[in-house]
Amino acid sequence: MPLTLPFDTTYLDLPDHFYTRQPAAPVSDPKLIVFNHDLATRLGLDSASLTDAEAAALFSGNSLPDTATPFAQVYAGHQFGGFSPQLGDGRALHLGELDTPMGRVDIQLKGAGRTPYSRMGDGRAWVGPVLREYLMSCAMDALGVPTTRALAAVTTGDPVLREQGPLPGAILTRVAASHIRVGTFQFFAARGDVDALRQLTDYTIARHYPNADGPTGLLEAVMSAQASLVARWMGLGFIHGVMNTDNVQIAGETIDYGPCAFMDVFHDDTVFSSIDRQGRYAYSNQPPITHWNLAQFATALVPVMPDADAAIETFTQVINRFPTLFAQKWGEVFAPKLGLAPSPAATSLAQDLLVQMQEAKADFTNTFNALDDTAEAFPDWYANWRAQDPDDALWRATNPSVIPRTHMIEATISSATTGDFAPFHDMLAAVSDPFTPRDAYMQPPEPHERVTQTFCGT
Ligand code: AMP
Ligand code: MG
Repeated sequence: MPLTLPFDTTYLDLPDHFYTRQPAAPVSDPKLIVFNHDLATRLGLDSASLTDAEAAALFSGNSLPDTATPFAQVYAGHQFGGFSPQLGDGRALHLGELDTPMGRVDIQLKGAGRTPYSRMGDGRAWVGPVLREYLMSCAMDALGVPTTRALAAVTTGDPVLREQGPLPGAILTRVAASHIRVGTFQFFAARGDVDALRQLTDYTIARHYPNADGPTGLLEAVMSAQASLVARWMGLGFIHGVMNTDNVQIAGETIDYGPCAFMDVFHDDTVFSSIDRQGRYAYSNQPPITHWNLAQFATALVPVMPDADAAIETFTQVINRFPTLFAQKWGEVFAPKLGLAPSPAATSLAQDLLVQMQEAKADFTNTFNALDDTAEAFPDWYANWRAQDPDDALWRATNPSVIPRTHMIEATISSATTGDFAPFHDMLAAVSDPFTPRDAYMQPPEPHERVTQTFCGT
């Protein structure tokens, strides 16, 4: 029985220039790779009798229910510091919103074909980035970090041409609290469209932060959500890779798994993204970049305030609190990783450990997962740590055994490219259950397996 999707899409109540409605472009031979029944259940959807063929037809866009109202959103954004006044969903189509037990969500097909915002792109995705996002977002979710989620992945039967040559095309079904980004506000701010900016602000407050007190309250709420989110990333050794303002989601979920990675060997300066040559989005730059991105958000919000000078003063005070707020969130993430309650002593112990890990080229995940081993590796640190009387059950429960390691993802993608999805399914099971040790997924890469560059998720 096909899935019943009772779309109820409020974004379309906003003015016409917020989006473009358009049908999904058909694909030739959709095949289901994976469907996330667990997520479907959490969304209140009954997928028990959904067949693979029905899922493939639906999540390729070939056969959409009458309730779907496909459209692409417009947005702008600072990309690597330079402002692009118009981006928008170039390879994604919103099917609509669902009001679910998890709250209101957007359902989006990523890789569904060209839209008016595709610029030079083909609007398509190949199986590599689709599987990477599927694995990464399932891992993030299982690790308890706010993230967009993956409901389904299909192959399209149509080749997609990339630098490497023709590759199997695929579509990811993404579920998000919404796709409103800092860049959505920037789009209207850059045009001086204050009416639209007001409507977007009101809509966003109502949808995501109903308790926020006006635009200033919204700014504070978004800052808090971003500080918590990025602190969580830091605690997992996660590097987003493309923290452009169009990839900063207002609801505070991790979004757009392009050239992202969980670090193996710890180093503060680690960068993976092949397009980030300056190291703008290196691991240790993620907090200051978040601060900068939030300042861009504040700038975009100024026109909705009655008095620009007063707004700039108020917003500056809010934004200036970011470093202190972030330091607090960082301490709240790292203290339990050591089995401690947050305190200045716990924070400095965590900082000391990271310094030693960096010198020793220690594996990030495995070091925290086996803190007992620091007795041998870092004896002085270990003694200081034990002197704090840590709760061993707490750090064991906080630090995962399994993260989606880049070299393993690349290996599963290689297999999938030749039509073998078994390694993907095996890895998906492992990363969806990250606190259960599975040896095969806990090994850092051998030197010849090491991936030093990841590519943009197209
Ligand atoms: P991202 O780096 O994934 O955040 O993408 C930046 C912008 O480029 C977004 O507006 C995307 O929709 C667009 N884009 C990326 N890949 C493609 C593609 N293959 N076709 C059309 N637009 C794309
Ligand atoms: Mg993006």
